[in-house]
Amino acid sequence: MPRPIEALIHLDALQHNLGRARACAPDAQVWSVVKANGYGHGLTRVFEGLRATDGFALLDIDEARRLRDLDWRGPILLLEGVFEARDLEMCSRLGLWHVVHCEQQIDWLAQHKTEWPHRVFLKMNTGMNRLGFRPHAFRNAWARLSALPQVDEVSLITHFSDADAPRGIAHQLEVFQAHTADLSGERSLCNSAAVLRHATEPTVRGDWVRPGVMLYGGVPDYPEHDAAHWDLRPAMTLRSQLIGVQHLEAGETVGYGSRFTANEAMRIGVVACGYADGYPRHAPDGTPVLVGGRRTRLVGRVSMDMLIVDLGPVPEAQIGSEVTLWGQGPHCEGHATRLDIDEVAHACGTISYELMCALAARVPVNVIEPHQP
Ligand SMILES: *Cc1c(COP(=O)(O)O)cnc(C)c1O
Repeated sequence: MPRPIEALIHLDALQHNLGRARACAPDAQVWSVVKANGYGHGLTRVFEGLRATDGFALLDIDEARRLRDLDWRGPILLLEGVFEARDLEMCSRLGLWHVVHCEQQIDWLAQHKTEWPHRVFLKMNTGMNRLGFRPHAFRNAWARLSALPQVDEVSLITHFSDADAPRGIAHQLEVFQAHTADLSGERSLCNSAAVLRHATEPTVRGDWVRPGVMLYGGVPDYPEHDAAHWDLRPAMTLRSQLIGVQHLEAGETVGYGSRFTANEAMRIGVVACGYADGYPRHAPDGTPVLVGGRRTRLVGRVSMDMLIVDLGPVPEAQIGSEVTLWGQGPHCEGHATRLDIDEVAHACGTISYELMCALAARVPVNVIEPHQP
């Protein structure tokens, strides 16, 4: 038998969450953001679950090629545009749409020989200060692009820095609108946080929304809201089994560095999952874990291949018991159980995005097909 750890990818959850994005942004088209190998879920796998999308947005031409090889004929958007002039040939060949965020990318386009003019998304830096033209330079870039025979249609795009946070989007929205009011072209502004929190407003929603993490069941504004609040379902489950059980006396310690000390006699379980599987090494004592669908806690430092849990709340647990690190747990007393990845990430001082993307290559992945009606 192989080591008992595995990841499950739930296609019905991807379908459901895509439906949630549509419901939050009615009439807008949806770019499903599948960068970073579909946020760690596997590009081919998430493609199956997200086929009903209007387009896919990602970063790498190689990933775009893989989507074309899967026979995806719809739009694909390169969110950072091209990295060198030669990339434009592949854009022409594969019919990729691409972001244009700097003068250099316009220069490359102006020198590009193509029979098929490109659809481009011109990016404004409205305050994120990552990629994009400053507002005062935007109109000039738009005019330059619009005049190029290599360019078909120019759409307008920007990115919010605080859509999940108290500062909100108003300051950036105002800048974007002030500098684009009389420019033609479709608009795209919203990431997941903006889709969930702000997209009821048509000017925010625009023509295309760009949800990423919410498609995978991650919540951008956790812990203010959780997955149940937004009606999102986990698309990834990381599960394993107990491979050992120990009985501790009061005063005994657990694992490297003896980080955890038992206050009283206790039973602990050894789980076949460690940081080499993508579980965060910095997870503190108390990080939630499900054993047999019941909540318990991590104790002691996570090691490369194992971590340790308190079996106090699960006296029936034994070697072979199912352990859920995040995602959908087993049925327990007739109920489906679940441990949100956001909760684990929050306990570890990070965000669900990072845990999803860090799923290690050595973990076998199984795809769960949607239930047939
Ligand atoms: C990653 C990304 C998104 C999606 O962000 P989420 O927070 O995962 O929804 C949207 N737009 C751009 C430009 C991105 O880079």
